[in-house]
Amino acid sequence: MALSTSIGAPTAVQQEIARLVCLRDVQAAMEWFRSHEPELRDWQMEVATIPAPPFGEGPRAEWLRSRFCELGLEDVQVDSVGNVLAARLGADRNQKLVAVTAHIDTVFAGGTPLNVRREGDRLCGAGISDNGAGIVGLLALASALRSAKVRLSAGLLFIGNVGEEGEGDLRGMRHIFCESSWKDCIGPTVVLDGAAIDTVVTQALGSRRFQVTIQGPGGHSWSDFGAPNPIVVLSRAIARFSRTELPAEPKISANVGVISGGTSVNSIPESAGMRVDIRSASHEEMERLERALREAVAEAAAEYPKRARNGCKGISSEIQLIGCRPAAELDPNARILQVIRAVDAHLGNHARPHRASTDANIPLSLGREAISIGAGGSGGGAHTLQEWYNPAERDLGLKRVLLTVLALAGVK
Ligand SMILES: [Zn+2]
Repeated sequence: MALSTSIGAPTAVQQEIARLVCLRDVQAAMEWFRSHEPELRDWQMEVATIPAPPFGEGPRAEWLRSRFCELGLEDVQVDSVGNVLAARLGADRNQKLVAVTAHIDTVFAGGTPLNVRREGDRLCGAGISDNGAGIVGLLALASALRSAKVRLSAGLLFIGNVGEEGEGDLRGMRHIFCESSWKDCIGPTVVLDGAAIDTVVTQALGSRRFQVTIQGPGGHSWSDFGAPNPIVVLSRAIARFSRTELPAEPKISANVGVISGGTSVNSIPESAGMRVDIRSASHEEMERLERALREAVAEAAAEYPKRARNGCKGISSEIQLIGCRPAAELDPNARILQVIRAVDAHLGNHARPHRASTDANIPLSLGREAISIGAGGSGGGAHTLQEWYNPAERDLGLKRVLLTVLALAGVK
């Protein structure tokens, strides 16, 4: 089902979009995107060259803080967990703020060659689209509003958030919505993630991630032969876990993404470990699969005594929760959904509702209105060193962001 063609968007919202696009300042803001594309590309290349591994976003945050200052935003700050925040004040101080956010971290570990470069029309490099495109979307929106002097009713809160990817576990968004002084000032949230404009994430995919560690006495492969081997135990646990039956509906996935352990071919390892990712929209299915993982590890470990015959230690196992993202869904009657549908209908953009794990998981799980959308252009190879971004027609995506934010904030 295409969002823009589903049963008509409420007339009031459609009328508001039609009114907005006729305003001279809004037209000027929309025009800004096309005429400033070279500047947007420069920003994107520049930000992508600054490494931002999980838990190492500091230098990129500092870059974004400087850009926010240059763009004349207010209250520019880096908070205690590393998020970069900046406000654009609205005329009505009693109205809740519209949050517009993009994650600034990448999946790439520190020291990874990001190899940012141009190849023809494409910008290439690790993280160039995810989330170079989203970060540039924040800057483009702030710049266009400033240049066109658009007068908003509600204020905007721009947020470059940390820890969206992997083990970051949405810590930046969690902090903003659960702990920060902004948490009660925010109304709807628009998340900018990647490029694509053919989807609207309205459903938050939940996930749980585990570090499983098996430990044993270790020893020499010949003289200590017979001592329990953690790699063997881990392998048996994986074999058991992978036989767990999974339903087709609701969809659930399980992935053993990393295994580690051992020191040399002629040593019995002292430890072995794996990282497991479980995802579903169903809380119950995730619970069931977590139990299956725990049972598989316990049963594999139980094949060996806790204490080996010679008195040295036997096998022990530990399962640590290293990530937990809540599953949630946007209320089908939410105003933010009516707005994006009306904007898509106006722009002739066909977008389908989508379920994914994004920054929107946190506000959605708290019952707040939030969507995650792309910031325009196209991209591919996300989370690989072959990632690319093509800015052709980026302005369509940015107009979509602009009109959505304006309709949510109100224009005087
Ligand atoms: Zn992303």
